[in-house]
Amino acid sequence: MNKDTRLVTAGRKPDENFGIVNPPVYHASTITYPTVAAMEKAKENRYESVYYGRYGTPTTFAFEEAVAALEGGEKTIAVPSGMAAIAGPLLALLKAGDHVLMVDNTYHPTRHFCDGVLADFGVETTYYDPMIDGGIADLIRPQTKVVFVEAPGSQTFEVQDIPAIAEQAHKAGATVIMDNTWSAGYFFQPFERGVDISVQAATKYIVGHSDAMLGVITTSRELFPVIKARTVGIGYSAAPDDCYLGLRGLRTLAPRMARHQETGLKVAHWLETRPEVAEVRHPAFPSCPGHEIWKRDFTGSSSLFSVLLNDYSKKGVAAMLDGLELHAMGASWGGYESLIVPIDPSNSRSATRWQHAGPAVRIHCGLEDADDLIADLEKGFERLTAAA
Ligand SMILES: *Cc1c(COP(=O)(O)O)cnc(C)c1O
Repeated sequence: MNKDTRLVTAGRKPDENFGIVNPPVYHASTITYPTVAAMEKAKENRYESVYYGRYGTPTTFAFEEAVAALEGGEKTIAVPSGMAAIAGPLLALLKAGDHVLMVDNTYHPTRHFCDGVLADFGVETTYYDPMIDGGIADLIRPQTKVVFVEAPGSQTFEVQDIPAIAEQAHKAGATVIMDNTWSAGYFFQPFERGVDISVQAATKYIVGHSDAMLGVITTSRELFPVIKARTVGIGYSAAPDDCYLGLRGLRTLAPRMARHQETGLKVAHWLETRPEVAEVRHPAFPSCPGHEIWKRDFTGSSSLFSVLLNDYSKKGVAAMLDGLELHAMGASWGGYESLIVPIDPSNSRSATRWQHAGPAVRIHCGLEDADDLIADLEKGFERLTAAA
């Protein structure tokens, strides 16, 4: 079955729900059993079946099944946010004295988690250059339990050679965790490239409508019990209403991603022609570090990219952004609406240096008409140059 078909069919069980196509929103804390024997049986496979509300309800399980189909993994765990999806497997696999290799261009709060929570618990983090490839071997120590990858990287979009990194990590017995949010799991199949655990902020493209917060952790069958035990053990429980919205988002993910891709490329190509722009940082552009790897490993691009501007003042950038009508200033991308935010990647790097001296913005192209978005940005550039 093709991926687009799996996205529409996975997790559907109308025969269990009066023929209704979508699973109902099951709210549950208490789940009752008719006999001691039935309760004991449920307890035995409590990671597989309903035992008590925190483990999930049939709404959660339907969503999890569909995400596993999307990512090409065996099991998925829904958690209350993307950040929870990142923290969960790290807390499950690391203990005091362990070492984690974290990519330098990771999502900033992930860095914060390593430097804060993990450091407090006696876990050491080393940041590495996203373009390190097989050179990661030199940084792996006997204590290295996790190698964390994110491709393309947050804000700056370098594309890592995940198969090369995974090969070295696996030789040393380390687990490879990937933040796969940018591709929505739609343009990158992590388990075919050596990833052991793929996490996503489902908040972004999967939910897709800028309303629910949700995270997903997809694993192999072997790693699942360890991760599930820890995520349940620290109290993560995704709300059934949010899982319902996540599942609904998945049903339209394929056409939304196709449109996001098309609009993103059209706007990015137009931006590249502008005299105000020094560089468009987009994995589909040959100037993007790792572009060849993106071509080899990804089947497309989402609509989040950055624009490095020439040497304009902060005031000029503010004038440009403040007057935009279709690009709201907001951080949580992946919804139907376009967004723009000023970025300064130099604050989120320690193993590498951010080279661009001028200002930069990150753009998320929503589902509006691409020409309208371009017209909005064109007026923005007029304000930028007038203020400079
Ligand atoms: C937004 C984001 C997250 C965090 O997701 P939340 O649902 O907001 O917690 C994690 N990783 C990446 C790459 C993100 O962009």
